Amino acid sequence: MLDFTHDPQATSWVASAQADGCDFPLQNLPFGVFAARGSHETPRGGVAIGDQVLDLARLAAAQVLEPEAQVACAVAAGETLNAYMGLGQPAWRALRRALFRALHADAPAATQEALRACLVPQARAEMKLPVEVRNYTDFYTSLHHALNVGRVIRPDDPLTPNFKWLPIAYHGRASSVVPSGSNFHRPLGQARAPGAQAPAYGPCARLDFELEMGFFVGPDTVLGQRVPLADTRERIFGMCLLNDWSARDHQFWEMDPLGPFLGKNFCTSISPWVVTLEALAPYRVPFARPAADPPPLAYLDDPQERADGALDVQLEVVLQSASARRRGLPGDRIAATSFRHQYWTIGQMLAQHTVGGCNLQAGDLMGTGTVSGPTPGEAGAIVELSRGGTVPVPLPSTGEERRFLEDGDCVVLRGWCARPGAARIGFGSCRGEVLPALP
Ligand code: CA
Repeated sequence: MLDFTHDPQATSWVASAQADGCDFPLQNLPFGVFAARGSHETPRGGVAIGDQVLDLARLAAAQVLEPEAQVACAVAAGETLNAYMGLGQPAWRALRRALFRALHADAPAATQEALRACLVPQARAEMKLPVEVRNYTDFYTSLHHALNVGRVIRPDDPLTPNFKWLPIAYHGRASSVVPSGSNFHRPLGQARAPGAQAPAYGPCARLDFELEMGFFVGPDTVLGQRVPLADTRERIFGMCLLNDWSARDHQFWEMDPLGPFLGKNFCTSISPWVVTLEALAPYRVPFARPAADPPPLAYLDDPQERADGALDVQLEVVLQSASARRRGLPGDRIAATSFRHQYWTIGQMLAQHTVGGCNLQAGDLMGTGTVSGPTPGEAGAIVELSRGGTVPVPLPSTGEERRFLEDGDCVVLRGWCARPGAARIGFGSCRGEVLPALP
């Protein structure tokens, strides 16, 4: 539902919010958790505006918002956003509207003065995980990714028979979800080389990234409670970028028959700013299936979801090698696509997650699965771009090439939404660097 907070003409008295290509204009207002860089401050909730963070703890103390928004602000000011996500849509909407009005160029001078005192430059903020991740589930909902990877694992029969009937997922590891900027060591584990009788133990030789989006769940549900597809929009707080780092050699050896384990649990990076589903509303697009494909079963189908259940979020992957970094080069864009190509919507994912009665906890993190579009340059993992390591991916800025990730490689995911008649909003970035394996 669009309202005045989506007005593309609206501007903020925070001048940087109007900068060309800024991810955080007035129409976005994403939530995160931060503390002053290098300090021992208690982390607290903040909202990004331009190149600043609006400190919600200071704002709550200033008591300048109307009552409903004031209560929501005090909750969002906590050390994590779990409790805020648990408040639900009326509170989310009240705070968004209040912040929009208070940061608007036409806000009264006294309001501007009060909020100016709550601004912290993003350059001086250290971003934390936005939530305490109690549960993390990772889906597998890109048909193109499933086909590309399936051709590597099962060339004769790449698509599993369930793919077009339900959003597939596995329960992932919550403890190793880290905020953007956290680096990790190349994992060690078991892998069996093609044709070998026995596996060998050692550092991962086929290290990969996965371009994904994540979404955060709103209010708790109780065990046994289903969330119907039509209700999922008020049950999802917002979205982030997510990199599901993957050790392909370990993964392909261990995952049969119970699914990913060590191949996926050594690090999962997320971008620090959570863009609300409300901010994403102008970028909803129809959800459609090829005519020859089976229509979703009734509990995964809904007229509203068909009308605008997909989200047109532009995504890109940049790989910056150690050599590029030494030479001050930003790296090379190796893939770009849109989230709109996913075979299942985030609403269908949440409906599927709860259909058997599994309960949700506020702040639960769901990964959408790798986002790969229909053409080769739209693949969201290097195992796809390099076709299982057989075709090197060029890095033109340094003349290097990659079949899989090497030590010192930094992978940067970016996401944004843009269309005529709506303000451009962005997710910022999600980055992480591969450090050498520990001895
Ligand atoms: Ca994944």
